[in-house]
Amino acid sequence: MPWLRRNWPIAAIAAVAVIGATGALVLFAGTLLSAGGTAQPAAATTAPQATVTVLSGPAATAPATTTAPTTTAAPPPPPPPRLPRPRIVWKPIPFPAHRLTETAAYALRHYGTATWRLRHPRVIVEHYTESTTMLSAWSLFAQDVPDAELHELPGTCAHFIIDRDGTIYQLVPLDVICRHTVGLNWTAFGIENVGMSDADVLGNAAQMRASVHLTAWLMQRYHIPLGDVIGHAESLTSPYHRELDPAWRCQTHADFPTPAMDVYRRRLRALLHRYRIPPGPPVRRVSSGC
Ligand SMILES: [Zn+2]
Repeated sequence: MPWLRRNWPIAAIAAVAVIGATGALVLFAGTLLSAGGTAQPAAATTAPQATVTVLSGPAATAPATTTAPTTTAAPPPPPPPRLPRPRIVWKPIPFPAHRLTETAAYALRHYGTATWRLRHPRVIVEHYTESTTMLSAWSLFAQDVPDAELHELPGTCAHFIIDRDGTIYQLVPLDVICRHTVGLNWTAFGIENVGMSDADVLGNAAQMRASVHLTAWLMQRYHIPLGDVIGHAESLTSPYHRELDPAWRCQTHADFPTPAMDVYRRRLRALLHRYRIPPGPPVRRVSSGC
């Protein structure tokens, strides 16, 4: 400090107060030595607990004013981009009241619930049509006649058909049960991909782009994990499979078996990753006992 370095005396002060039995106060005072050696009387104190403060060097420095470090909060991460709704062409099949009634009766026979409403969809089932045109599949679904294999009403259907050029057609509202997969219709969306084989569909870039986009969008909208996007051929090992009719319990189809679905799900996962959509738990399988 400047005032100590110049012509000011350097102080050495010692004061000891001793209070004797007689109560007399003896005070020792030190000397103040000036730079030139001149002795000056020390300041006396009568206080029994004299406090001597020696100020020297840095200790005399006035307490520094400290400012709390300013912390700048990191900006929150930007929200993930939302997967846009794909372009969907509404091409409904007839679904009059009698078909809704047939659907409710079917649901009662096979699932124990007399409703045509698809509530809380939890599964997405991928199919291929074994045909080469969208219209051949659409026409089959439009007829409300007993199916050729199990001979029941209502007629079979799917919620969507993906054409070879990537056009997505929607045939049925998303809150209506469609007959496309035995054991899962009560809780599954059905997507038909036009093609003669799984390789036919997997090898068509435009169709795959549309199919994977639609599936990812449905997953995001209905909170369906990647593990519950299955091929028709995987239906029996879905934890949601339920079938009351013993004759139908082990019925399934060969379209989109696991090796093909592994490719499909890999592509789907890549799209989900791009939009930071969590894929959810891994594929869950149960023993079908078939
Ligand atoms: Zn199928």
